[in-house]
Amino acid sequence: MVLTDEKLFKSQAHIAGKWVDAASGAVYPVTNPADGGLLGHVPDMDGEDAQRAVAAAESALPRWRSMTAAERAGLLMLWYQSILDHTEDLARIMTLEQGKPLSEARGEVKYGAAFLQWFAEEGKRVYGDIIPSPANDRRILAIKQPIGVAALITPWNFPLAMLTRKAGAALAAGCTVVAKPAEDTPLTALAFAELGQRVGIPAGVFNIITTRNPAPVGYAFTQSSAVRKLSFTGSTEVGKRLMADCAATVKRISLELGGNAPFIVFDDADLDEAVAGALASKYRNSGQTCICANRFLIQDGVYDAFAERLTAAVKRLRVGPGMEDSGQGPLINQAAIDKVDSLVADAIAKGARALCGGNRHALGGTFYEPTVLTDVNEGMACVQQEIFGPVAPLMRFHEEAEAVQLANDTAFGLAAYFYARDIGRIWRVSEALEYGMVGVNQGVISTEVAPFGGIKESGLGREGSKYGIDEYLEIKYLCMGGL
Ligand code: ADP
Repeated sequence: MVLTDEKLFKSQAHIAGKWVDAASGAVYPVTNPADGGLLGHVPDMDGEDAQRAVAAAESALPRWRSMTAAERAGLLMLWYQSILDHTEDLARIMTLEQGKPLSEARGEVKYGAAFLQWFAEEGKRVYGDIIPSPANDRRILAIKQPIGVAALITPWNFPLAMLTRKAGAALAAGCTVVAKPAEDTPLTALAFAELGQRVGIPAGVFNIITTRNPAPVGYAFTQSSAVRKLSFTGSTEVGKRLMADCAATVKRISLELGGNAPFIVFDDADLDEAVAGALASKYRNSGQTCICANRFLIQDGVYDAFAERLTAAVKRLRVGPGMEDSGQGPLINQAAIDKVDSLVADAIAKGARALCGGNRHALGGTFYEPTVLTDVNEGMACVQQEIFGPVAPLMRFHEEAEAVQLANDTAFGLAAYFYARDIGRIWRVSEALEYGMVGVNQGVISTEVAPFGGIKESGLGREGSKYGIDEYLEIKYLCMGGL
């Protein structure tokens, strides 16, 4: 691997400030999704390793928690700057293990770093309340304190940002952390830990364990009474499992789960803007984001024009290895491309037509052709499930109310998008959509300053923004009597 700073390439996990192997000595390979090539090996850890990491976080907690918010913020700002200083190396590691184009990886490094900066600032504003007392001889206060050890489980689609979004908030709040990155993308997370160590994050405050068998590690987290908080981003299925397992110790949990984002284009939309938003929302990271547009609902009057313009734009997308900075990289692994393939086959079998794409790409491996499907209906699996690939299914609607009904007809409630110019419609639809986030005439909505999260089966809690730090804080009520 060609890095300016080769020490960022790690093959060990990080516990109690040390770089360590699995107790069993087991390792597993990390591969490049663009060509299947071997990048390196990392420890294949188990529940006992997880307990070791939790113990490290537990013993580091008293000191970290008792530092001032400004002291913690100072360290987080150094970490933030260090990430930016190593943008190119981090982007390369990310592209090699995850597949996204280098320019997107560079963007994620900046976006990921921003969570440390944001929460360094927010950590200094963890205010409590003094509450007017119903009795003269008493005063009532509410203070906020760190929850304790936080376990973080993150996905492979944003190997850095999903980690910093959680860790930034947890650490700024005064919690210590054990993180478990996804099995496909541990290397970015390990490089992030290396930078943390270099800037002086105390030993045990931020631990990372790696495994290709996440269930025993997740179980160790959920059953540990030392772990007081679990934050998870991933599939709804695994999130539900973890939520059930957390009942044993009544842990605080944050869940950011799957989505089934509708992207609605009304007759009064600016179509060029809508196409640009659709491209950004659907094809970024080759369609592998949880807020990707999953279903396109297009009003009659603009359906044909939108389909034509979107198809023309999608045909211009370049597919190739992320290191060559093509617009569209490979999908993460074989299971991902098999799923996309079967969803497209199901749609075609039920009457959809591909306006472009519709097949595995000639490059082979896990490359898939950017695809637009027309004549899609609700009976097709691609509008019921998260596609997680570069496929845009287009459905037609007539009335505004029908669009809202179709959009809400899902168990998910993460992100939704719509394009319209009529101000009355904009308010009506914004309020009627049962989603945690709504992009209005906007296809890219993620930023560290805004609350990210879903409702219904898309999750619990919010990340980023002024609300994100609350996920790692407890409220304590103090009643001062005998005055
Ligand atoms: P995806 O479909 O994005 O791969 P997953 O939910 O399988 O979604 O993975 C998201 C994260 O959850 C990854 O870090 C993965 O290792 C982890 N994970 C998967 N299964 C479990 C489990 N049983 N317990 C704990 N973590 C798990």
